[in-house]
Amino acid sequence: MAEQQKTSEQESGAGRPNRSVQPVYLDNQATTPTDPRVVEAMLPFFTERFGNPHSTGHAYGWDAEEAVEQARAEVAALIGASAREIVFTSGATESNNLAIKGAARFHRERRPHVVTCTTEHKCVLESCRQMEREGHRLTVLPVRPDGLIDLDLLWETVTEETAVVSIMAVNNEIGVIQPLAEIAAICREKGAYFHCDAAQAVGKIPLDVTAAGIDLLSISGHKVYGPKGVGALYVRRRPRVRLEPLIDGGGQERGLRSGTLPTPLCVGLGVTARLAAAEMAEETARISRLKDRLLEGIRRRLDGVQVNGHAEQRIAGNLSLAFEGVDAEALMRATPRLAVSTGSACTSASVEPSYVLQALGLPEKLSRASLRIGIGRFTTEAEIDVAIEELVSKVRALRAAGSQAAE
Ligand SMILES: *Cc1c(COP(=O)(O)O)cnc(C)c1O
Repeated sequence: MAEQQKTSEQESGAGRPNRSVQPVYLDNQATTPTDPRVVEAMLPFFTERFGNPHSTGHAYGWDAEEAVEQARAEVAALIGASAREIVFTSGATESNNLAIKGAARFHRERRPHVVTCTTEHKCVLESCRQMEREGHRLTVLPVRPDGLIDLDLLWETVTEETAVVSIMAVNNEIGVIQPLAEIAAICREKGAYFHCDAAQAVGKIPLDVTAAGIDLLSISGHKVYGPKGVGALYVRRRPRVRLEPLIDGGGQERGLRSGTLPTPLCVGLGVTARLAAAEMAEETARISRLKDRLLEGIRRRLDGVQVNGHAEQRIAGNLSLAFEGVDAEALMRATPRLAVSTGSACTSASVEPSYVLQALGLPEKLSRASLRIGIGRFTTEAEIDVAIEELVSKVRALRAAGSQAAE
């Protein structure tokens, strides 16, 4: 993907691209810029407030510890948890690994079964596959054509032998929101843990782990205007969720994640959570208006544009659009002014169409015609108008070229 988006400056080796020719950023599901307010709050913890939060003998340590604990409380508050239920990690990949492998390994004797679904992030699917290699039984459930879990099928699949069910809150490619409370109720009834990868949901939709009955929930900083390299795992205390740690050492984070906490990153995640809690409602309304403007602007001028995934059960900032008769890779090459994606960033190096779109049962032609557009906190109306103009003109041109070639 990066290859195709090179500007002519980059190709001529002139170094970093000139900001004025940077494409419009519409890939907010891949990552988001760190909010300047978050960066500002982090900075003192690199320099004068550099203490080790685990140093208990002097003021440097106490200062850092206090900052880390305040951040922990802010992260907890955003999801309706208590501070002691938050484990800081390096990101959602690590949180997902810890939740799935940790739960499955701890309960390997009596509950040797793991359940997930086809549209999960690769790090969830690969963690589950690893458990299968370690001797667990694995069920990877299909999803319905709208991208949502079939609850009857889930009910039939989860048994007294299931250690953990891992289903994401919001899909990173198509933005659909899974029925979390219903999934949680099934898990609770069967005694299985419900792990939820909420990397794309935290700060985008209201989440309350207590009300929803979630046992384990993964958070990523950089998907929600926080820094890269930090995340968290919510681990329920009552009833207590038992995990085997992945990383052994000094026993930090209640023994679940040894290693010195990165104070600046933890502080950044805390401020990220505080901002999300304060601004989510207003931000969602604004992003939703931008999304409507984009979709209406495109559809007013183009036929054959469909939204992939459930029409209503979705977050505001994501549109996975299939442009009939167009190859999305060609469309991306034709629109260098837009930073969008044809699938998850992790799989776009391969020529395979997105496994998520295929899991919906979308015909391969439509999967290959699909573009993911991610609108975020810093997207402007003017940028949306550039996107409409670019997409409409280039789709028309590609369709015209295609029909000429067919003649
Ligand atoms: C980005 C993402 C991850 C990985 O998060 P990192 O913090 O980058 O490790 C996991 N799951 C989903 C749904 C994501 O979007």
